[in-house]
Amino acid sequence: MHITGTQLNYFFVCKRKLWLFANHIQCEQESDLVLQGKIMHENSYSYEKKEYEFEGIKVDWLDLNNKVIHEVKKSDKVEEAHLWQLKYYLYYFRKNNIGEFTGEINYPKLRKKEQVMLTDDDVVYIEKIIDEIEVVKNLPFAPKVEKPMKICKKCSYNDLCWV
Ligand code: SF4
Repeated sequence: MHITGTQLNYFFVCKRKLWLFANHIQCEQESDLVLQGKIMHENSYSYEKKEYEFEGIKVDWLDLNNKVIHEVKKSDKVEEAHLWQLKYYLYYFRKNNIGEFTGEINYPKLRKKEQVMLTDDDVVYIEKIIDEIEVVKNLPFAPKVEKPMKICKKCSYNDLCWV
């Protein structure tokens, strides 16, 4: 089954969040933080950005001239998830013969950007992650998390998990 960029991101953030999202228990539209993120996307780089969507792969800004996929993020707190989400997009583009692209994560609020490349080792790792995501998605119940994590406060599933 197809893996979306959001699912891959959640795999790194929290397996329970991945399961809830993949099983259509979605509260994201109610989250102020997600809304803030969307507003930021709409206001950042407004002259340059071109959004594209391919079966669950939603690219914030595709620079076709320089063959760069940009991801626009609010904070660098879940940097590993951002990094692998973008590497997954590079992998998806390569696998589907869309083209060989490089990546850039843009943090407009922090005035920071990070270049991202896809290596052969990354391809092996991503294929392993895809298998693991399928395992999590197909669990009969949401995986338990023993105690709240730092990230839970800002997660739209916080009430569901901890209240
Ligand atoms: S609130 Fe915490 S435990 Fe629950 S889904 Fe979100 S990140 Fe995971």
